[in-house]
Amino acid sequence: MSPLVGHPVFERVALIGLGLIGGSIALAARRAGAAGRVVGYARTAETRETARRIGFCDEIVESASEAVAGADLVILCVPVGAMAAVAAEIAPALREGAVVSDVGSVKGAVIEALSGLPDHVHVIPAHPLAGTEHSGPESGFAELFDNRYCLLTPLPDGDAEAEGRLARFWRALGANVEAMAPERHDLVLAVTSHAPHLIAYTMVGVADDMRRVTKSEVIKYSAAGFRDFTRIAASDPTMWRDVFLTNREATLEILGRFTEELFALQRAIRTGNGDMLFDYFTRTRAIRRGIIDAGQDTAAPDFGRVAARSGPKAGE
Ligand code: NAP
Repeated sequence: MSPLVGHPVFERVALIGLGLIGGSIALAARRAGAAGRVVGYARTAETRETARRIGFCDEIVESASEAVAGADLVILCVPVGAMAAVAAEIAPALREGAVVSDVGSVKGAVIEALSGLPDHVHVIPAHPLAGTEHSGPESGFAELFDNRYCLLTPLPDGDAEAEGRLARFWRALGANVEAMAPERHDLVLAVTSHAPHLIAYTMVGVADDMRRVTKSEVIKYSAAGFRDFTRIAASDPTMWRDVFLTNREATLEILGRFTEELFALQRAIRTGNGDMLFDYFTRTRAIRRGIIDAGQDTAAPDFGRVAARSGPKAGE
């Protein structure tokens, strides 16, 4: 549970993009009293209408420029591939001294996309490591960031006071905040999130192929391992297309290593090397324990999915 901050960390927060992450920020900010006023904008009238109906923002406006006018914090909650166009649109309307941040899953590409913003704003890229396989304005919830990390990737000549304020905002939303270099972020996330998603997409693709051979038995008798892959592979296609297009090098590096390991395991199976398999699986089991000990997942059977509102945090 996040601390109630007592007084707003920012007076007017503008959210551009009102899906899972934008909606959750609005709800978590309201829960904590972290924003004086939250103004939202999404590109389609349908999403704006849904957001109005749910009421998670104080106001939904009809343009991105209108949303950011007068805001002391602007957070871009759109797919990574859309950041540059949104930045160009809002640039002339940004208030002097405003903090402009984002939630994109890749940081190097976002820094590039935001490089044309005026010098009179503080650009501070960020990435909350929290998500689910759901998307859209109805998927957000106030608890999404509780006890999850939010990584800030500040620019070299960034303003320490503005960075401190943004960190306070995210802490009020329930997150643990840490700073990291953008290249490091993109490599670490390639290991922990991007490559695993690609592997899940591949495995479900293989099963889809097999379905034709097995007459749907892979669906009917789907076991826990496959079901976990299908949950990850149900993640938003636009978001994940953009992640792979913009974190290409790091993802390819990790997939190269993955392929080597896969071949080693394949060889162990072929040669009947049980010791190798046993040692390998013992090592990987310890990693799972480490994640649970760090409070980043639950040891409950089936990942505590029945109890948790949206299951384990799958996105990021
Ligand atoms: P989402 O639920 O699909 O919402 C995306 C929002 O962006 C929607 O409001 C959508 O508007 C808008 N949008 C989509 N394409 C756009 C475009 N070309 N131009 C302008 N606006 C556009 O996505 P999300 O899960 O909140 O993800 C948003 C960001 O958070 C992404 O950068 C993603 O990498 C990052 N992130 C996601 C997760 C996760 O697990 N989902 C976790 C951490 C970070 P309409 O609804 O009007 O189309």
